[in-house]
Amino acid sequence: MSRKLQANRLNMQAFAQDGTPLLETTLLQNLERLAQEAHGLAPDSVVSWQARAELRPQAGADDQIWLHLQAQTTVPLTCQRCMGAVAMPLEVDQWYRFVADEDIAMTEDDQSEEDLLVMEPQFDLLAVLEDELLMALPLVPMHEQCPVAPVLSAGEGDIGPDAAEKPHPFAVLAQLKGKK
Ligand SMILES: [Zn+2]
Repeated sequence: MSRKLQANRLNMQAFAQDGTPLLETTLLQNLERLAQEAHGLAPDSVVSWQARAELRPQAGADDQIWLHLQAQTTVPLTCQRCMGAVAMPLEVDQWYRFVADEDIAMTEDDQSEEDLLVMEPQFDLLAVLEDELLMALPLVPMHEQCPVAPVLSAGEGDIGPDAAEKPHPFAVLAQLKGKK
């Protein structure tokens, strides 16, 4: 095993010719833009991902390089209802086709189902992975059911030594319903 690939400066041509998938785990804290979105990221949180590239022959042209990227992780985000941490599973499963330059990417993007990437001698696959994970983030992260009831209005209820003995909020709700 002398094969060492650096995912942040990958020779895509060689990677596609070889065809062997890259199976990796990357610490989420090393993906700085994603880590900024997280709510209390555990230092050992990782994203598991795999990438495989292949050459697809073209009649009268150079082979095209295609890349398949898949990733799974769970990122703690800030629930927009209770402001607590909500564990959000994220998944990536995307095909890309490499093109020679930005102009081709612009003109062909609309008519392509796959995403287009511009070829670079040392391609940063980690940046693509991070972009995809950022795009997979929900706009408004929220618990399906928040672990604590949201505070309805300030000053309601007493916060004192007796607070712990307050009846469970649902019990109070049941009482209120009973009275009506
Ligand atoms: Zn919540």
